[in-house]
Amino acid sequence: MRSIRNKRLPVRARYLSTATAATGSAQPKQTPLNSVLIANRGEIAIRINKTAERMGIRATTVYTDVDAASWHASSGFQSLALGPSNAYLDGDKIISLAKKNGIQALHPGYGFLSENPKFAEKCEQEGIVFVGPPASAMADMGHKARSKEIMTDANVPCVPGYHGAQQGEQFLLEKAREIEFPVLLKSVRGGGGKGMRIVMTEEEFIPQLNSAMAEARASFGEGGEVMLVEKYIVRPRHVEVQVFADKWGNTVALGERDCSVQRRHQKILEESPAPELDEEVRQDLWNKARQAASAVGYVGAGTVEFILDKDTNKFYFMEMNTRLQVEHPVTEMVTGLDLVEWQFRVAAGESLPLTQAEVEENMRQLGAAIEARIYAENPEKGFLPDSGKLVHAYLSSSFESDPDVRLDWGFKSGSTISEAYDGMIAKLIVRGETRERAIAKMESVLRKYQVVGVSTNVEFLKRLCQTPAFIEGDVETGFIDKWRDALFKPRHIKNEVFAQAALGIVSKQLQSAPPQGLSLGFGSQSATSERKVAFKVMDGYSKEEGEVVEASVAQTAPSIFTITVTRKGAEPEAFSNITSSHNNHGDVVSVESFFLGERIKSSVVPQSLENDIKITIFQHGIKTDLMLLPPKWYEKELGLKEVSASVAAPMPCKVLKNEVEEGQKVKKGAPLVVIESMKMETVIRSPQDGVIKKLAHKAGDICKAGTVLVMFEEEPETKEP
Ligand code: ADP
Ligand code: ADP
Ligand code: MG
Repeated sequence: MRSIRNKRLPVRARYLSTATAATGSAQPKQTPLNSVLIANRGEIAIRINKTAERMGIRATTVYTDVDAASWHASSGFQSLALGPSNAYLDGDKIISLAKKNGIQALHPGYGFLSENPKFAEKCEQEGIVFVGPPASAMADMGHKARSKEIMTDANVPCVPGYHGAQQGEQFLLEKAREIEFPVLLKSVRGGGGKGMRIVMTEEEFIPQLNSAMAEARASFGEGGEVMLVEKYIVRPRHVEVQVFADKWGNTVALGERDCSVQRRHQKILEESPAPELDEEVRQDLWNKARQAASAVGYVGAGTVEFILDKDTNKFYFMEMNTRLQVEHPVTEMVTGLDLVEWQFRVAAGESLPLTQAEVEENMRQLGAAIEARIYAENPEKGFLPDSGKLVHAYLSSSFESDPDVRLDWGFKSGSTISEAYDGMIAKLIVRGETRERAIAKMESVLRKYQVVGVSTNVEFLKRLCQTPAFIEGDVETGFIDKWRDALFKPRHIKNEVFAQAALGIVSKQLQSAPPQGLSLGFGSQSATSERKVAFKVMDGYSKEEGEVVEASVAQTAPSIFTITVTRKGAEPEAFSNITSSHNNHGDVVSVESFFLGERIKSSVVPQSLENDIKITIFQHGIKTDLMLLPPKWYEKELGLKEVSASVAAPMPCKVLKNEVEEGQKVKKGAPLVVIESMKMETVIRSPQDGVIKKLAHKAGDICKAGTVLVMFEEEPETKEP
C-alpha cells in the first residue's frame, strides 16, 4: 500500500480551508462503528467488506437464492439469506435482519437501496446508522427537476431546459421549440440511461416523448413518466467531481473523473484527472461541486456530474449521485485514499481526515488513473448483453503485488453471470505517472486476461487503449460512434492461430481417446498419426467471420509435429517439424510451440455447447473464437439440417411483449418481440418477410438463450413449371 494512504491527522487539526465549519452548540454525535450489514452483491460487497475488515468493523453480507454460491456470500463475518432474486431491494427484510442480528450500521453500496431516501429514513428510525447521506439530501438530488432548481438558486449552472410540472404534449413541444432542437428528454427520476431520448427534429418529438414516458414509467414506477426537456449538447464530455462532506460542515472535492467513453449513455471507462482540461475550468468545477453539495446539506460521499460542452468549453450541472460510485477506485488511486473508510468515519460522526490542500498535495504526486469496466456483453454486436457461466476466467494475478494495478471483481471461474443483475464482471483500475503510461499499462494488463463462457468487452477495451484519439485525450460521449470504424476494424487471423488451436484440440482428443499403440497425449511413439480438424471462425472482429479452415496435425517424432493449415483460395501452409508441448490446467490447454523464428505460447479452451464445441484461443494477447466443425459423416448421421424459419432468444431473457399477432404479415426488420435481459430492453426484429405462425411465449415468460420465440409459416412451395 502506498505510504500516503490513510494518513491520519490529529482530530482537532482537521480544519478545512474551504469549509464552512459548523457553528453553535449542536455538535454532531459520535458513534464508533463496530458492525455493518452490506446490502449489496458482487464486487462492491467484497470491496466494502475489505475495508470493514481492515478497520475491525464486523461485516455481514447477504445473498439471494441465485447468489447463494456467489463469491461475495463467502465474504464477511457471516452471510445471511434474503430469498428471491429481487430481495436486494427488500428494505424491510434487510432492516429486520440487521435488527435481529444486532447490527449497528448498513452500507448500501451502489444501485439497489443506495439512493432510496425512504429506506435511509427508515434505517435511522429503526436506530440503524445508514452509511450514506441524509435522506433529505437524497430526496432533493434524486429528483432531476428539483435538483436543478436548487442548483440554479445556488448559482450552479444547469443545462438550459424545461424542468417544470406541466406535461401536456403540445406544451412540452412548445418548450422544445423554445430551447431549440436537438433536445434531450429525460425522466425526472431517471437513472441508468433509461427513459432518455434524443430528439433531433420537431416531427419526431411526440412519438419519442411517448416512448420515453412509457419506458420511464416501467422502469421508475409512478411519477417516472414526468419528463424534463433539455438542450441536447452535441459534443459533450461527462466530467464529474467526487465530493465528500462530514457532519461538521466540511466539504472537499477529491478531484474529477472524466467518464465520456460511454455506450447507451452508460460509462465504460473512467479516468482522473480529466484529460485536456484547462486548470481554471478544473478549479471552477471543483468549486461548483462543493457549492452543489453544500446547497443540499450533503454528508458523506457524493458525485456531482457535469456535462461539458466541447464546442464552448462551458459546463452544466447534470445530476448528483448520492452514493459511492462504481468508478470510485479511480479517485482512490489518484488521492491515495480509501473512500469507504471515509464513509465509515463520517457515518460515525468523525470529521474528514484530510483538508482540501492535503488532498491536492496527494494528487500532485500520484499522476493519472483509469478504470475499465469489464462487462458480459458483445460490443461487436451492438453491445448486446450476455450471461451464463464463466467457464474460465483468468484475470491475471501476475500484477497482484503491483500497487498500480487494482482488480475489483465479484466473480471467478465457475461463477454464473445471472441475467437478473447488472452484467459487470470486474473493474480494472490502473495508475501511471502520466495518462499515457496508465493507458499503456491498462492495455498490457488486459492482454493477459482470459475470459471464456460469456462474451466480454475485453477485446474492445484493448482496441480502445490503442485508438489514437483516445490516447490524445480527445474524448466525448459520442466517442464510440465517432471512432467506430477504427474500434471495430476487422483483423486477419494468422495461420499460426489455427495451428496452435489444432495442436491444443488434438492433444486433448488423444488424451481422452488414445489411438491404438499410442500412449497418452503426444507419447513417445514415432509412428506417424495424422488427425484432421476443421474450424469455423466465429470471431466478431475477424475479417473472415464464418470462414472454414482445416488443419491437419501429424506427429513425426516425440513432441514433433507438422501442421498443415488449409484455407479457401490459398495454398495450404505447412509448418514442419514444430516442437510442441502442452499442459492441461482444468479446462485450459496451454500449448507452447517453436515455429520458425518464434516461440508461441497459447491457451486453448474447448467448451461444449449443446451440439457444438466452441474453441477459444488466446495468442499474443488476443482472443479468437472458433467453432469445431463435426466430421461430415457425423453431421449427416445426426440429420443436422436448418431448422425451419424461426426466431430464437439471443440471450437468457424475460419476454416483455409480443409486437405482432399470429397470422400477421411482417416485413424484414419489423419489431417482433421486446425482451429484457440484464436491466436492458432489446427489440427482436424480423430476419425476413413472412407470416407469423406461432408466438411461442407471452409477456412475463422467462426464456433461455436459444429458446424459439416466434415461428414463421413455411414458405409456400414454388411449383415446378
Ligand atoms: P455510476 O455509479 O458511475 O453512475 P452506474 O450508474 O452504471 O455508474 O452504476 C450504478 C448502477 O449500477 C446502479 O444503479 C446499479 O443498478 C448497477 N449495478 C452495477 N453493478 C452492480 C452490482 N454488482 N450490484 C448492484 N447494482 C449494480
Ligand atoms: P442517468 O441518471 O441515467 O445517469 P444522466 O442525466 O446522468 O442520466 O445522463 C447520462 C448520460 O447522458 C451523460 O453521461 C451524458 O452522456 C448524456 N447526457 C445527459 N444529458 C445530456 C445533454 N443535455 N446533452 C447531451 N448528452 C447528455
Ligand atoms: Mg448519471
